[in-house]
Amino acid sequence: MTVTLRFAPSPTGNIHIGNARTALINWLYAQKNNGQFILRFDDTDAERSTVEFAEGIERDLRWLGIKPDRIERQSARFSAYDEAAELLKSKGLLYACYETADELDRRRKRKLARGLPPIYDREGLKYTPEQIAAFEAEGRTPHWRFLLPNFEDDPFKTKRTKVHWEDVIRGRQTVDLASMSDPVLIRGDGTYLYTLPSVVDDIEFGVSHIIRGDDHVTNTGAQIAVFEALGAKAPEFGHHNLLTSADGSGLSKRLGSLSIAQLAKDSYEPMAVVSLAVLIGTSVAVKPVKSMAEMTAHFDPQTITKSPAKFDMAELSGLNKRLVHDYSFEDVSDRLSDLDIGGGAEFWAAVRPNIEKVSDASGWWEIVNDAKPVVDDEDAEFIQQAKALLPDGPYDSETWGKWTAEVKEKTGRKGRGLFMPLRKALTGQEHGPELATILPLIGPEKTLARLS
Ligand code: GLU
Repeated sequence: MTVTLRFAPSPTGNIHIGNARTALINWLYAQKNNGQFILRFDDTDAERSTVEFAEGIERDLRWLGIKPDRIERQSARFSAYDEAAELLKSKGLLYACYETADELDRRRKRKLARGLPPIYDREGLKYTPEQIAAFEAEGRTPHWRFLLPNFEDDPFKTKRTKVHWEDVIRGRQTVDLASMSDPVLIRGDGTYLYTLPSVVDDIEFGVSHIIRGDDHVTNTGAQIAVFEALGAKAPEFGHHNLLTSADGSGLSKRLGSLSIAQLAKDSYEPMAVVSLAVLIGTSVAVKPVKSMAEMTAHFDPQTITKSPAKFDMAELSGLNKRLVHDYSFEDVSDRLSDLDIGGGAEFWAAVRPNIEKVSDASGWWEIVNDAKPVVDDEDAEFIQQAKALLPDGPYDSETWGKWTAEVKEKTGRKGRGLFMPLRKALTGQEHGPELATILPLIGPEKTLARLS
């Protein structure tokens, strides 16, 4: 059987680094097993889902290096869900309930006050035809609950019913079906909650592994029961820890700053984002991984830890910097020319240690072409002496060394006192790339002008 995984976002916002983590873990798992990866849009909520968000998610995945083998939309599959719902109803496994949200809430509170677990007591199974007619006459429409298989003959006498699975990340997991309420699969307005469409699709698309955040662990128990009620064997499950923001709060699709779209716009390297999203919250050190192929080789779901992991922007910048410092000129030459940056391999070699992002090279290229010299009063005379000693062009990689040796000899200045005023005059900055490399790029004419 082909190993098949899916990433199933609701297109109701931009995906953030935490969602990217889920997508990447699924994709890497598929890659590692020569399997396939499905992008499934859970867009049954027609009001909140948009085509723009769905396109945005596809674009963000592409940016990360993920190309789905197949794309599916739940909004196109309602007839399959209706068919499954009818099948469950015909087996008596999906039953109508007429309580309002207020009634359910009051009942829950009463139970809690008496120290009882707030589990739904299956009132819906007890209605007489008269009661149902009365509810309908009041204009109530039913919501539908799935009857969990947690009893022998009498649904009002539940018994401990342990569901086990060997989680591909967390190891053996157990959930007691008697400790939860029968899940609502269809709302009062006839719309589907996530569970049934998801199970129907996972069966039909041959999903072999469901890997998702550990906020879904309890759902898994009920979901396994739904798979079985529909005559299918449940797939393998894996639940990974969640990412939180630096202050420990959960990430939300509304958190624009950590959205993949924003990170792309801010010129982070996709592989920096991938490296952090995959390796954070694992027992292996977070390090910059250069390619998806290397990440696939490196990836091991069993290294994912159980506690939540904190996303730290500084860590992302650090990874980005380390990747960029490793790029050869060939790696970036197309991107540099897209940014209108010249100077070839020499310029790249000179600026590379001074930048965090490839786009930062623009700032240095601007300085090569047009810098506002800074000359402190106490250095004015020194700069004039240095100017007088400036060799004629053309400049090459030796020019800086020869020139500054001569300036040193004539003026007696050395170290910082020698180099800093020249750097500030030539670039307007106190720090920056090797001047030996930058000087030939600035060229004789501009150098002379900046020393005036
Ligand atoms: N749409 C669901 C979510 O985003 C998918 C969960 C799953 O992967 O089963 O939570």
